[in-house]
Amino acid sequence: MSDEAIPFGRPMIGTEEQAAVAAVLAGTQLVHGPRAKDFEERFAARIGARHAVTAGNCTAAMHLSLMALGVGPGDRVAVPAMTHVATAHVVEYVGATPVFVDCDPETGNMSLEGLRAAAAPGLRAIMPVHYLGLPLDMAALGAIAASCGAVVVEDCAVALDATFDGRKVGTFGATGCFSFYPTKHMTTLEGGMVVTSDDALAGALRQRRAFGYDQMLGERKRPGVYDVTVLGYNLRMNEAQAAIGLCQLAKLDSFQAARSANDAALRAELAEVDELTLFPAVRGPARSSHYCLNATLPRDGKPGRDVVVTALRDQGIGTSVHYPGPVPLMSYYRARYGHAPGAFPIAEWIAEQTISLPVGPHLAPGDPERIATAVKEAVRRARA
Ligand SMILES: *Cc1c(COP(=O)(O)O)cnc(C)c1O
Repeated sequence: MSDEAIPFGRPMIGTEEQAAVAAVLAGTQLVHGPRAKDFEERFAARIGARHAVTAGNCTAAMHLSLMALGVGPGDRVAVPAMTHVATAHVVEYVGATPVFVDCDPETGNMSLEGLRAAAAPGLRAIMPVHYLGLPLDMAALGAIAASCGAVVVEDCAVALDATFDGRKVGTFGATGCFSFYPTKHMTTLEGGMVVTSDDALAGALRQRRAFGYDQMLGERKRPGVYDVTVLGYNLRMNEAQAAIGLCQLAKLDSFQAARSANDAALRAELAEVDELTLFPAVRGPARSSHYCLNATLPRDGKPGRDVVVTALRDQGIGTSVHYPGPVPLMSYYRARYGHAPGAFPIAEWIAEQTISLPVGPHLAPGDPERIATAVKEAVRRARA
């Protein structure tokens, strides 16, 4: 991806991160150290949650959340049909059953109507995914969750700093889970975080992150002596990752300002193209974190997505697809639950017709205009 002039995403690593990792490697505290604790405290403060718990990645963060909330065999968990497979996989990890919900055609988010229908026979948990950074209507979702007694675990992997009614996503659910994969809003190479404002839940998350130890490393009266009271895993983040995370957090305001400006510039250019539909960056009280700009191509297939992807690639512009297909129609889930094509029409339409364009902080001045020109030319040629 990095031989493109404008890749879809590019990690923004500088000399600060390099020096921070070198400092970790020059010392002896490689895990369980002060950097992860500092990173957790600063992240929690930024999001507005009482606790943040580092994890190996966002998938681990969501897995820990379901375990700590006691979601397990026999439980039904609502998951959007249009998401990264990780959201559904964690439901499988704990032996619960994912109930897939189709999308709202205007935003790509999980349809609240579909969620209400799924909630009627009883749900144990709901996993909203803020699709490409735009928050769901968390007031309406909270009411649905309350109506059936479901817990909410937010997948905020691409929604860092997105807000609903002025409040950051991740603070609406019992937990909120974030990703620091290289192309996300900030990176720790691989990494994740769970936020919660529930003290007991934070303890349960920490315990399951580290083997189920009843006492953490710093709490033991006698070194090396502990008991295990629950089945835990090893899903920790190390000190080098946390050191990178601290550097990235210090730069995050500038990254987010660049995303917002790039999105606005690209959006203004593409708004002139009648044949394209753009998913909104603002909807009611929801404000996107601008993970990327999703353009939906004309239903008549002129141009088809492959044509646009190729035209942009020829000019060194990277694109992506979110996502290549509805999760319930991926072979594993189809074989397991028997879902058939046609069952998730909006998700299938989005999977086939949308293209994700870059707006990250790696773009140079003029790049949004370059991307827009390439898209416009591809549309014009296909319709000539
Ligand atoms: C990237 C992503 C994940 C997985 O995050 P990892 O940190 O790679 O585990 C989960 N959900 C969504 C919506 C994502 O975009």
